[in-house]
Amino acid sequence: MIHDAARPFVSADLISHVIAELERSESVVPGIPVADTMKFAPGGLVERTVDRQSLWSVQTPQGFGLKAILDAHTQAHEQKLEGLTDDAAVAEKFGIPVRVIAGRVENQKLTTAEDIKLADQQLIAKANSVRFDIRVGQGIDFHEFEAGDGVVLCGVKIAHDRKLKGHSDADAAMHALTDAILGAIGEGDIGTFFPPSEPQWKGVASSIFLQKAMELLTKRDGIIANVDITILAEAPRVGPHIAAMKAVLSPLLHVAQDRIAVKATTTEQLGAIGRREGLAAFATATVRLP
Ligand code: MG
Repeated sequence: MIHDAARPFVSADLISHVIAELERSESVVPGIPVADTMKFAPGGLVERTVDRQSLWSVQTPQGFGLKAILDAHTQAHEQKLEGLTDDAAVAEKFGIPVRVIAGRVENQKLTTAEDIKLADQQLIAKANSVRFDIRVGQGIDFHEFEAGDGVVLCGVKIAHDRKLKGHSDADAAMHALTDAILGAIGEGDIGTFFPPSEPQWKGVASSIFLQKAMELLTKRDGIIANVDITILAEAPRVGPHIAAMKAVLSPLLHVAQDRIAVKATTTEQLGAIGRREGLAAFATATVRLP
């Protein structure tokens, strides 16, 4: 089979169709019956209207017997033949019968810059239209402080005279985010997949929890629309680390950083968090499913 690289939307289905037809025919080309009225107009002046009844607009991939098409090309080259605009034309020239089968409208040829622009718009519209099921999930997590040398939030270690107490690295922000994504797709919570009773999760980086949630989302062909995280703490100061946190989350969530928000606030010294006994994280995730 010979394919024109300017037709990037060729489907496996069409390729299979050409292969199947090669069982019966010496050579095969996919084509679309011409729908427009065709005029023969050399030099821009119409000489006559062409009967479009038997006209096809031909595509690729075109299928041939290898020896037959090689011989035809070799002879065309030796005879310096011109005006053969596709491989089927070379075959025809040397008497190889060419069968036309139904092509595919979407198997369009991109020739001009305008063609590429239109194809881009179609691809974007398609990507958007197949994910119209929009869901929101929330996640909340609290962790207590204990003696230590820093806290991990959104995968970034922030130096501090305390650390967060927990089974894993106790990254409350990433736990809240993981629960938000799991919540959006109705898949339980972190504990469903990573029971704290299991010693294997002791001290692990919480990115593995987030990766699990993303794996479940991706399995359903879902994508993240945006996530919004708020960290509630008197200390340490989170603000200077937000850019680093977004840089960690972006590849894990497969989205650009402008779809990720990380914010921090205090409780004005009210309550347990105000007394610096621990911190909390809240997250929402909006996901799009087909
Ligand atoms: Mg937690």
